[in-house]
Amino acid sequence: MTPNRKTYRIAVLPGDGIGVDVVAEGLRVLRAVEQRLTGVLFDTVEVAVGAGEYLLNGDPLPPSAVEACREADAILLGAMGLPGVRWPNGTEMTPQIDLREIFDLYDGVRPIKLYNAAHSPLKGYEAGGIDFVLLRENTEGMFASRKGTYAPEADAVCDTLRITRHASERLFRAAFRLAVGRKGLVTLVDKANVLPSMAYFRSIFDEVSAEFPRVRTERIYVDAAALYLVKSPQRFDVLVMENLFGDILSDLAAGLIGGMGVAPSGDIGDRHAIFQPSHGTAPDIAGKGIANPVATILSVALMLDWLPSDETRRGAALIQRAVERALADPRHATPDIGGSLTTSQLTDRILEVL
Ligand code: ATP
Repeated sequence: MTPNRKTYRIAVLPGDGIGVDVVAEGLRVLRAVEQRLTGVLFDTVEVAVGAGEYLLNGDPLPPSAVEACREADAILLGAMGLPGVRWPNGTEMTPQIDLREIFDLYDGVRPIKLYNAAHSPLKGYEAGGIDFVLLRENTEGMFASRKGTYAPEADAVCDTLRITRHASERLFRAAFRLAVGRKGLVTLVDKANVLPSMAYFRSIFDEVSAEFPRVRTERIYVDAAALYLVKSPQRFDVLVMENLFGDILSDLAAGLIGGMGVAPSGDIGDRHAIFQPSHGTAPDIAGKGIANPVATILSVALMLDWLPSDETRRGAALIQRAVERALADPRHATPDIGGSLTTSQLTDRILEVL
């Protein structure tokens, strides 16, 4: 241990499929940044979680793994799930969602930024021309029903969309605080014209907005949000929404900037936080060495930005700038964003800039 350097413990959960490959690249970048910083060290602890762990030991999220996460200052996660590995009732194993609930990680942060015009399916957008953050409520909404079951003979099944004052207020406050440091606009995405739960959600948004008089607000229905995200994504700054809406629109938003391989995420609570690429285990490209590492590398930057020190925030800015500069050259790309580099070659380009 080097004296006078603050050590942060990072629980590292590579998981399954391409999660393993991209986390390895994220750690290369973390180590490179550590060299550049004088005041901090990172003590990484690898934790086995996921479908592979289930096949080995019968539990995709062993209690010891949860404890290792609890003891860590931050958690870096890859992706989880393997084709055909399911619970006996046929549902997928989702330890990443379980962890959100265990640690009450209510604030699902999905930054969406275009790094090269060539990555976007939209015409006319330069690097930086699309730049917003989508905040997704992570602990309730339609996902509140996810552990329900249904009888095979049922001919009707209902899921409940749960909205609570507590979860909504803290989510909206996070959205407003984020907007203060950005362009100062929060867009609420809801379905208040149809669903009472969403009208309630909107009324709480209105109350919380009064605490932030300098932040502008707008309210749009989720169907219109899907349209505007494609037609005029440059208008947005911070968008905030219910869990399932966020699940869907964050993938749409990732599509605007090149896909899941460039979309980082943070699931943030008051004490704990998990950072991971927005993508899954991508069985179609697992083992081929061509997964895009950028989403994970940017997730490492989000993690450093969240850790409570100026030094780690400086590290986050270094990574962010290195990714921006490296991706400015369209040849610096894996196949998903139109290039021919392998996973580690793209990381090499980013490390060269760093
Ligand atoms: P999940 O249900 O866990 O979200 P999924 O199979 O629905 O998983 P992903 O694993 O995210 O979705 O894959 C969706 C598509 O995006 C696939 O075609 C996959 O190859 C591609 N993809 C995802 N991540 C990456 C990446 N890092 N690099 C390149 N392509 C990726």
